[in-house]
Amino acid sequence: MNLKDYITVVEDWPSEGIKFKDITTLMDNGTAFKYAVDQIVEYANEKEIDLVVGPEARGFIIGCPVSYSMEVGFAPVRKEGKLPRETIKVDYGLEYGEDILTIHKDAIKPGQRVLITDDLLATGGTIEATINLVEQLGGKVVGCAFLIELTYLNGRDKLDGYDVLTLMQY
Ligand code: 5GP
Repeated sequence: MNLKDYITVVEDWPSEGIKFKDITTLMDNGTAFKYAVDQIVEYANEKEIDLVVGPEARGFIIGCPVSYSMEVGFAPVRKEGKLPRETIKVDYGLEYGEDILTIHKDAIKPGQRVLITDDLLATGGTIEATINLVEQLGGKVVGCAFLIELTYLNGRDKLDGYDVLTLMQY
């Protein structure tokens, strides 16, 4: 199955010059969505995962079916102010300004083997911040899985030493 057939490239969204990769047309198709999730599960099966972690919002869409299928938990990473209990946080650079990501302080036990999921790897800022949170809590990042990689933005440079799977490259 060619998963790219199910991605819609939206020109000039959310701003001029951006070719946004819309994954909702893949999610809309049960066969394609299951195929994509199964590829990530197959990759993660060899890694003795204890937990899946994903950043909002599209990291949930990929990470939750993976965690369900593997019968391990899922811990959400969210923007500041969204999680109800005690959190730890990380500041990360955006193209314009900064943002803060958080995770519940008790979401990961030291030594747990973590798979991080998101829909797309662009500059790598989001995944770098998510790895930082997992490691602050003593988790071991044993894999990072994405549907899509924008290779021209060199996000992999931030992931030196980590194991990375991407199902589609642009
Ligand atoms: P990064 O932090 O690697 O620069 O950007 C990745 C994050 O931005 C991901 O969480 C992803 O959801 C979002 N993102 C950036 N560009 C796109 C895109 O073209 N399509 C989708 N679906 N998400 C994007």
